[in-house]
Amino acid sequence: MMMRRICHLGFVIAASGLAFCAGALSQETGTAKTYDVVSPPACTNYKGETVQFIDRSTANAGTAAGMANRDSSGTPIVVRSNFAATTPAYQSFIDRHECAHHQSGDVDRPHPPRNSPEHLMNEAISDCIAILRLRDEEGYDEAAVGKVTAAMRREMAKIGFPEISISSRISNIDNCYAKYGAAKEFIEGVLKQRGLLQP
Ligand SMILES: [Zn+2]
Repeated sequence: MMMRRICHLGFVIAASGLAFCAGALSQETGTAKTYDVVSPPACTNYKGETVQFIDRSTANAGTAAGMANRDSSGTPIVVRSNFAATTPAYQSFIDRHECAHHQSGDVDRPHPPRNSPEHLMNEAISDCIAILRLRDEEGYDEAAVGKVTAAMRREMAKIGFPEISISSRISNIDNCYAKYGAAKEFIEGVLKQRGLLQP
């Protein structure tokens, strides 16, 4: 069975048939700063299934990342790797971004080619849902959103993303925060377009 993995940063390294998601690198190499790990948010996919969050430490202890998938028994999961390596605000964002891949049905749809327009659209949609949830459920104001995007900028720059990728991603997030309605309605719009809206 082909495993579909949805990566947080849309940055996949495939090797030996395994897919790795590369996320944030630590602040300093060697003396990695660590943060408290936040509790995961409620997360239910478009079919009404509860998504389980699993914390993992990997060899890349300084790299915080998230991955949305189904496990071998079909349970929808989000794997949180090395979350202590990044700020609580950014952890919260990663959780909701990964959850959004379940809410939008991405996890159950064919995985578009890496960096294809369809893939980038999926990432933009998940970013949008994540920031709407932080706004609506956690009361994030512009300053709090600024903390999320500042952490995102640092982490993406460290991994080597070009400035245009970073700024366009943040611009999409700021735009969603300022202009879109409730996350629930946004998700329903996506599902309707995809023919996945459950009766
Ligand atoms: Zn993603």
